[in-house]
Amino acid sequence: MQLVLGDENEVYELASLKIKETENKYIKKGINDLSEKEKKIKAKSLVLVYKKTNRVILELNMIQNQHYYPLSILDYARIMKKYMKKEIPSLPIMSLDSHDYNFCDFNCKDCLAIDTRQWAQKNLGYTTYDIETYEKTLKEISRYSQKRGLDSVRFEMSGEGNPDMYPHRARIIEYAATKCNMKCVYVSSGSMLDEKTIDALCKYAYYIRISLPGINNESYSLYSNQVSDNKFTYDDAMNLIEKLVKKRKEYNREDKLMIGARACMRPENEGYYIKTAKKLGEIGADSFQIVKILIPLGDKIEKYRIPQETVDELTHLHKNYEDYGLMHIQTPHKLDYMYYHRELEDLTKPSQCYSSLVSPILYGPNLVICTHWEKIKDINNSHYGKMRGNINELEDIMHNEHANYIRNIVPKNCSSCCSIFDNQVLEMIKAQLVLVDDLDDVEFYLTY
Ligand code: SF4
Ligand code: SF4
Repeated sequence: MQLVLGDENEVYELASLKIKETENKYIKKGINDLSEKEKKIKAKSLVLVYKKTNRVILELNMIQNQHYYPLSILDYARIMKKYMKKEIPSLPIMSLDSHDYNFCDFNCKDCLAIDTRQWAQKNLGYTTYDIETYEKTLKEISRYSQKRGLDSVRFEMSGEGNPDMYPHRARIIEYAATKCNMKCVYVSSGSMLDEKTIDALCKYAYYIRISLPGINNESYSLYSNQVSDNKFTYDDAMNLIEKLVKKRKEYNREDKLMIGARACMRPENEGYYIKTAKKLGEIGADSFQIVKILIPLGDKIEKYRIPQETVDELTHLHKNYEDYGLMHIQTPHKLDYMYYHRELEDLTKPSQCYSSLVSPILYGPNLVICTHWEKIKDINNSHYGKMRGNINELEDIMHNEHANYIRNIVPKNCSSCCSIFDNQVLEMIKAQLVLVDDLDDVEFYLTY
């Protein structure tokens, strides 16, 4: 049975494209007992309901809960509706991906950041981000978005190096959370996390995702390619996740803070996906992402067909992840090859790049249209400008002639897109709203 959760925690049953409030108290309790985190992560689809008749006029199933967390597709849909109703002058920055540190302790074999990292050091003079400008910039971004109907911007720290090594990490997390009401997301190997940062993360962050270069000690060592004598291992990463989980409990934030791990598909990981999922579940982590990355340069994808045993292992995991104690799993959609082809995927381009409005990147102090390496290196056609953190500067930076110019030439000039899915989803939402006569007659909800 498909259920829909209303804004006042009322629960509806969805059948034959209509919603009807349920009388069943067990069903109501089941949904309302979900934690704040579970309500976002366990959602199955987004629906648009015509309020007068309770008829569902749109359902989107690919809603990528983990990708948007701690926001959800519902936040994006409702902001789009506000924009279409002209309640806000333009879309807010909903998610900011900040690349604030430009060195790494690992030398991963197929690191995609090396090229842009070296380019940025040479061409932007950017290696790290001074903390005073950084804080002012976050304040300005949150002001800009609040004015456009979003109280809390998703603030992801990941990047061109190891974010653990940024010297002011604990301070910027606390500042973003307490002074800007941002929702912090942290992505790193965790190899250089200090106690102060662990504490700040567990107290303020909403999602910590530890990247695993391999999912056993051998493949971790092979792919992280560390040169120091004191190498960080797969076991160390698992111990770190366990420590984060314990600290989260101390701060009583189990209902909000999601802790997970991500691993890329590798030949050496075969046979270890279920073992890692089980281990993660046992130590209290919530999620496990298994993803494909681009085939290493010069290599041939045909060499890396996924063996049947691994297809079986991942299919089993996808169906039974809850039995291993996990709240969420992500496995690749197509279980054909272990990597993505380097040839461009010829997907239909959206008419507009929404992503450049709602999720630009902060590349040091530079506000850039998206994370695609071609864009990072194309200052004239992809950089909005350098942020100084002055109040109201975004009204100009995001809407001046240059900003309009760079947004006008995408996506038609983009050779591929790192946010194709986000763009397509927002386009679908907008296209449906255009068809509605009176936007006050419809509302978006999540289903379970
Ligand atoms: S941890 Fe990330 S940034 Fe560092 S070398 Fe590996 S892939 Fe590159
Ligand atoms: S690649 Fe182009 S269309 Fe895709 S997010 Fe970047 S600017 Fe937008």
